[in-house]
Amino acid sequence: MIPFIDLAAQQARIKDHIDAAIAGVLSHGQYIMGPEVADLEAALSDYCGAKHAITCGNGTDALVLVLMAYDIGPGDAVFAPSFTFVSTVEAVKLRGATPVFVDVQSDTFNLCPTSLSEAIDFVKSEGKLKPRAIIPVDLFGQTADYRLINAIAQTESLHVIADGAQSFGATLDGKKVGCLADVTTTSFFPAKPLGCYGDGGALFTDDDALAKRLRSYRNHGQGTDRYDNIRVGLNSRLDTIQAAVLIEKLKAFPQEVELRRSVAKRYIEALPNSWQPQSLVSGASSVWAQFTIFGDGRDYARSALSEKGVPTAVYYPRPNHLQAPYLDSPTAPNGLPVTEYLQDRVFSLPMHPYLEDSDQDRVLSALNDLHEGA
Ligand SMILES: *Cc1c(COP(=O)(O)O)cnc(C)c1O
Repeated sequence: MIPFIDLAAQQARIKDHIDAAIAGVLSHGQYIMGPEVADLEAALSDYCGAKHAITCGNGTDALVLVLMAYDIGPGDAVFAPSFTFVSTVEAVKLRGATPVFVDVQSDTFNLCPTSLSEAIDFVKSEGKLKPRAIIPVDLFGQTADYRLINAIAQTESLHVIADGAQSFGATLDGKKVGCLADVTTTSFFPAKPLGCYGDGGALFTDDDALAKRLRSYRNHGQGTDRYDNIRVGLNSRLDTIQAAVLIEKLKAFPQEVELRRSVAKRYIEALPNSWQPQSLVSGASSVWAQFTIFGDGRDYARSALSEKGVPTAVYYPRPNHLQAPYLDSPTAPNGLPVTEYLQDRVFSLPMHPYLEDSDQDRVLSALNDLHEGA
């Protein structure tokens, strides 16, 4: 079986550096908020260009923290896609606010600006909830269209919280994820493009006051010193060991992003016509957290591929608006027809920086064989 993602291949390449980095933490013993945490934050902010990088426990907490810092809670509406990992809307519910589900575009799979505007108008006309924020998701590693979304947000005075859990390293008009919205969250879950060896996450913003609140919220609402607590916060710090691992992984990351892009390019060039890849919005580059295609006959295709030793995965077979805890959350007035279309047709192919050409050719020929004599 070809691996769907291959974390071992990456580890083998940088193992000596990772071992030394972990040994360094064991020798100084500052497991919580050790010096590697600040070093990583500086390196992340250098890499993406955001003024502030604030690490935290995981990508879900990153979303919760920013909702806390914006004081978003009961009675507030937060607009988000349903076609995403559950955390995007789980964070909203955890705060007692109401997610309002917005449809996505059929080609980019990302938030549809038309559906967004309609959802905002609907919430305003009902008058029950106060529109507060939009959480666009950069699905599978490609940025949402922040040019259009930020313009809508500005007209409506809404915060834009970019869920960049899958897209750290991607760009739009030459600007990196971290600098495309008021605030951006990411995740260092092991399988994300930049992953650690456990849970981890971060927030990015240019807003000094927001950054200060986020640093306090991630550490029990700390004020001027450890026993001064000025707000109710979380225990959501990134472990020093994970920061040390990430410092080493970040060094290899720019090259890995390039490798992912060449894998994606080869897929796009050789895909049979019956399967469409996720398309990129103009001016965008993806980090290809997943390489996702859509077409008819998915379940047959997946089992035929699996018989040939080609693993595939479906993200996401059941969008959030159809999951029990979210059934009572409003949707855009025209519903989510594209989301419901994609849920039955998308699947993802093996994707990682070290995918060999020969393995990739096996994936492609298995896909092309599906249509021989059909
Ligand atoms: C992975 C993911 C998250 C959550 O990240 P964790 O670090 O696992 O909490 C949030 N949003 C999206 C879109 C994700 O893919």
